[in-house]
Amino acid sequence: MNTFAGIGINNDILKGLTSLGFQEPTPVQAQVIPLMLERQVDLVSLAQTGTGKTAAFGLPLIQMTNTKSRQTQGLVLCPTRELCVQVARDLEAFSRHVEGLRILAVYGGASIEQQIKALRKGIQIIVATPGRLNDLINRGKVNLSGVRYVVLDEADEMLQMGFQDELNAILAQTPLEKNTLLFSATMSKEVAAIAGKYMSDPVEVTIGKRNAGAENVLHEYYTVHARDRYIALKRIVDNCPNNYSIIFCRTRQETNEVANKLIQDGYNADALHGDLSQSQRDQVMKKFRCKNLQILVATDVAARGLDVNDLTHVINYNLPDDLGNYTHRSGRTGRAGRTGTSVAIVHMKERFKIREIEKKIKKKFKQCRIPSGVEICEKQMVSLVDVVTKVEVDYDQIDPLYAEISEKLGSLDREELIKRFVSLEFNRFLEYYKNAPDLNVSDGEKKRQGKRERQSGESANNANRKQKFARFFLNVGRRDGIMPQGLIGKINGVPGGGRIKVGKIEIMRNTALLEADSRFAPQILDAFQHVKINGKTVSIEVARGNNGTSRPKHGEVRYRKGRKFKAAQAVA
Ligand code: ADP
Ligand code: MG
Repeated sequence: MNTFAGIGINNDILKGLTSLGFQEPTPVQAQVIPLMLERQVDLVSLAQTGTGKTAAFGLPLIQMTNTKSRQTQGLVLCPTRELCVQVARDLEAFSRHVEGLRILAVYGGASIEQQIKALRKGIQIIVATPGRLNDLINRGKVNLSGVRYVVLDEADEMLQMGFQDELNAILAQTPLEKNTLLFSATMSKEVAAIAGKYMSDPVEVTIGKRNAGAENVLHEYYTVHARDRYIALKRIVDNCPNNYSIIFCRTRQETNEVANKLIQDGYNADALHGDLSQSQRDQVMKKFRCKNLQILVATDVAARGLDVNDLTHVINYNLPDDLGNYTHRSGRTGRAGRTGTSVAIVHMKERFKIREIEKKIKKKFKQCRIPSGVEICEKQMVSLVDVVTKVEVDYDQIDPLYAEISEKLGSLDREELIKRFVSLEFNRFLEYYKNAPDLNVSDGEKKRQGKRERQSGESANNANRKQKFARFFLNVGRRDGIMPQGLIGKINGVPGGGRIKVGKIEIMRNTALLEADSRFAPQILDAFQHVKINGKTVSIEVARGNNGTSRPKHGEVRYRKGRKFKAAQAVA
């Protein structure tokens, strides 16, 4: 029995709900739906993301619409194109069995002509972004004089995005005797102002505590040195083999950088930010929604339109400038009854921000230690074994090949075989986490740091004898204005770069030679990719062969991607 019937939802809508698997109203639905169906009231509802607000306003909106009339009776305003599409899609799904109901999403970034054409058919419920709707009003293409319900969905975000003027203009077009329903995760000053201005004596429905973080979210933070942020991120991700996460960055540039590094490091990651075209963004979101993409690196604004329910983690690579946004970020996990984890990576000086957020969300963060390489390898190994035990075997296809396979592997005993299969998947981690340093920063850091530096100085000296320097060749030199400090700066700029030992540097007229810890060769090569100096694209390569400190002989020929170039033409 579908219990939505008990709060007054009619049969046609019930059919739609049942096929969506909605059996029982969520708390916000249980409160808002009967209220809207029984009384003509304005309403302010504060509820976290994922509590089911769309159906809370959508179901009564659908039920109260007169499908015999073609007038626009319901108007839903959403902050972004994606939310707008999502809400319209949800309303359509709820009303699949409701005859004669027309719903349309209108938003920017899509053909206005087509939207105008669709509007001519007579749309009873319009779901819109404020910008585009205002545009349509100015062109005289929508008539809002018959509107009975206006829903402001994610009102706090709409205002944060600066839609104040558009909202004023739109609401001015609607009749006075309509009902306005405002939904928001937080009650900001601006939201209160809108409520005061446009609503008469609104009923307030608050689900959970005001401004409280969602119930099912665990909050964790890790303290590291700022320069270790990226490697710490990798460890956190590697420590949860089956994570499905959004990593939040502060800027587009940071988003791109982190995503690119992750991709280069072999993760299934991609970036989502405002510099992408709409169709690129759509594509990334689609991949992420259907889980072809495991990790999404995003800015706050770009992630707004994304509606995904089963994220395991939200990772704050950097905390948002406006700490209030933390709630929006963390609210993306722990949805629809699942638990999720919201992670913040902070450095020493940012820890006060954690305390501030704790006050805001009225929940405590758990301070966690960055897992060690050994711990991560163990986790990954267990997960791999788990995958092996659960994998489906297609015996029909494999059996005919079995004889051959078994003959080839026959010489290996069971133990050896297992070790080899595990290594196949696992060497990447073992290799990467060999000698992985401890990244944690603790309160006693200052005292210990000195000691650690001395120790690492010693061990570096010891290692120096064993440690190999790789020699890197660059096609830029004194003429291009490069200086040793510049090169060292670039190396220090790579994740964990502060620990990369640099040897001899020789700047020649047109080229430069640099020695650095060979274990970091890939990172160093990366650091100089796509770098332009003096208008010249820098090319860097590892000089092979003599691993000493001597310069290559004059005119020695080196190869890079099949292209030859003369290296050291110049004398230092
Ligand atoms: P909000 O707008 O509060 O962030 P949504 O309306 O987008 O939340 O709902 C969050 C998720 O929960 C959606 O995937 C939705 O399909 C699902 N959901 C909402 N109400 C119910 C319900 N009564 N039963 C089952 N799932 C629901
Ligand atoms: Mg919503």
